[in-house]
Amino acid sequence: MKKATKKDIEFIKEKFIEHYSDAVTELNYSNEFELLIAIILSAQCTDKRVNIITPELFLTYPTPKDLANAKLEDIKTLLKSCSFFNNKSKNIINMAKLVEDEFNGVIPKNSKDLMKLPGVGNKTANVFLIELQGANLMAVDTHVFRVSHRLGLSDGKNVKETEEQLVKKLKDDLHIFHQAMVLFGRYICKAVKPECEKCFLTSVCKTKKTFKAN
Ligand code: SF4
Repeated sequence: MKKATKKDIEFIKEKFIEHYSDAVTELNYSNEFELLIAIILSAQCTDKRVNIITPELFLTYPTPKDLANAKLEDIKTLLKSCSFFNNKSKNIINMAKLVEDEFNGVIPKNSKDLMKLPGVGNKTANVFLIELQGANLMAVDTHVFRVSHRLGLSDGKNVKETEEQLVKKLKDDLHIFHQAMVLFGRYICKAVKPECEKCFLTSVCKTKKTFKAN
């Protein structure tokens, strides 16, 4: 597949900033503890589903201390409609315990410490810092992976390679481009039937002909 030229990249950046510069996550939260839980739950699960689950969870366990003392079975019951709820239930309780024991009940704000927490890998840590601080980081989920390949911004074979290529090509304002590609992929450049007729990037797309032929 063709790669995006420097001119293409500038055009894509300009259009993403025009359309998505104020975009934020669609996960509902009111503090950093709730944000981190919502992001952990959103792995392999839709934001819509997470937003159905979290109000009762946050109401019953409003602080890391409350969640650290929760019974596993009670958390599993609350999370049962979420994918991988067994592991996620264990992870969020253990995450809360570690936050209590090692970080005085405060969620850490740097990648190194965040990744010490159960259920928090590189992507979760980056998404958390992007949302909370507008950090200049990239996080590659299924939407970012697909969109960046269709636009010729990456030919990375996996998430790590794709993240590295996007950081190198886009450089600044990565928090905007992350949110942009998530929302653009979710609502326009969809996996199965992308809405190319609504798209504002057709002139630089490297794959639209494939979809037109179908
Ligand atoms: S033209 Fe279609 S395939 Fe290309 S970026 Fe736009 S929505 Fe995606």
